[in-house]
Amino acid sequence: MIKAKKRWGQNFISDRNILQKIVDLSQIDHQNVLEIGPGMGGLTRILAKEAKKLLCYEIDEDLHEFLDEIEEKFTNTKIIYQDFLANDSNSVIKEYFSQEPVILVSNLPYYITTQVIMSFLTNSSLQRAIIMVQKEVGERIISLPNNKEYGQLSVNIQGSCWVKKLLNIKRGLFNPVPNVDSILISLEKYAPLDPEFVNFNRLIFANKRKTLYNNLLANLHLSSNQASQLLMDLKINSNSRSEQLNIDTIKELYNSWKKLPN
Ligand code: SAM
Repeated sequence: MIKAKKRWGQNFISDRNILQKIVDLSQIDHQNVLEIGPGMGGLTRILAKEAKKLLCYEIDEDLHEFLDEIEEKFTNTKIIYQDFLANDSNSVIKEYFSQEPVILVSNLPYYITTQVIMSFLTNSSLQRAIIMVQKEVGERIISLPNNKEYGQLSVNIQGSCWVKKLLNIKRGLFNPVPNVDSILISLEKYAPLDPEFVNFNRLIFANKRKTLYNNLLANLHLSSNQASQLLMDLKINSNSRSEQLNIDTIKELYNSWKKLPN
């Protein structure tokens, strides 16, 4: 065991049962896998056995000590010692996997969760993600309307992925023990991410205390006539708040908004 580095979100799991369960739930079936943050290689060893090819990004060079042996034993496995976010990982992934589809499986370092998910959403090689995230963040991702966790993050992700909660993971299973529990979730893409939709969501969720109508006026700069007409056409109550609308209604609203004259 090495001294874990807090700045890189190092909380390792060594429980074989839970690691095997994560891999089983990932349903890899001899497909290509990307792992971000292999750490001491607990998950990596099992993934290497199940995957067609496995590519790992690890920021911490001190972990060579644990990972070299895995890379030697499994010829389908390559470990790149780099910050996953700092480089052009999209083209590396395309080249390593010869443009084939890839599944992301990772016990994510908490501090880069949102950036990794955004990178997943914009990388056309990555089709599914099975990721362990802080429980509170995971709940925001999978939440449905009228829940306090439901908001921009839920809508952005559910706008392009089917989302599912797979497993609760208590903090005591990690070493060192973090301050929060985790959940394992799966994201399966059904549509590419539209950056304009992401921006639209930011604006309709900007003032949580305001009604949707008022957000349309204040942040999307619609006239009161335009906003009332838009809501009426979609049969949305004029007192509704954005967090009451389901993903299909928000998409309809976005599509109608795009058709408005400038
Ligand atoms: N997969 C291991 C496990 O389950 O025990 C370790 C998971 S630990 C939560 C996160 C890992 O991500 C650490 O090994 C850390 O060094 C690595 N990491 C942190 N930031 C990273 C980054 N930007 N790029 C690649 N790896 C990173």
